Amino acid sequence: MAGCDTMLQLDVARLKRSPGESVSFEIIAEMPPLKMAVEKISFDGPVKAVLNATNTGQTIMVEGTVSGMLQLNCCRCLEPFSYSFEVPFAEIYTTAVDEAKDEEAIPFSGDVLDITPEVLKDLIMELPMKAVCHEECQGLCPGCGQNLNQGRCGCEVTEVDPRLSVLRDILKGMNE
Ligand SMILES: [Zn+2]
Ligand SMILES: [Zn+2]
Repeated sequence: MAGCDTMLQLDVARLKRSPGESVSFEIIAEMPPLKMAVEKISFDGPVKAVLNATNTGQTIMVEGTVSGMLQLNCCRCLEPFSYSFEVPFAEIYTTAVDEAKDEEAIPFSGDVLDITPEVLKDLIMELPMKAVCHEECQGLCPGCGQNLNQGRCGCEVTEVDPRLSVLRDILKGMNE
């Protein structure tokens, strides 16, 4: 299923041989799902990367932004929704594997720079812990589990008319 065309790859064949040069890339690619501890998060549509790659002499510096949509589940109503993201990207790549002095640099070989692993890592870092489909999401009824965005359920309303809560306090007091 996964092929080379499902990755964010930069062809740096020419750039590699031209110290001081800069090249812009605009790549649109399908991406493999994010593998989280317990779940997989799929992309909703292709991912777009707008990047600038510079041959600094020793390394290839890649900077820019990556944007797209992810399919997340709302933490309140549990429904899937499209979460749009735009994350900055900045990494340094080197063909000199033994160049230990710059431990920030990511080694690569050949004429193609595959930035997919770094993009996926960045995205996992940027993911919201609690994603909501809308700020006003009503969530699920704690009683019956009905999605309250789709209408009311028949459950007794737990959130309260202040007059009712006074009454409840009085009743409680009588019981104690
Ligand atoms: Zn929701
Ligand atoms: Zn209910």
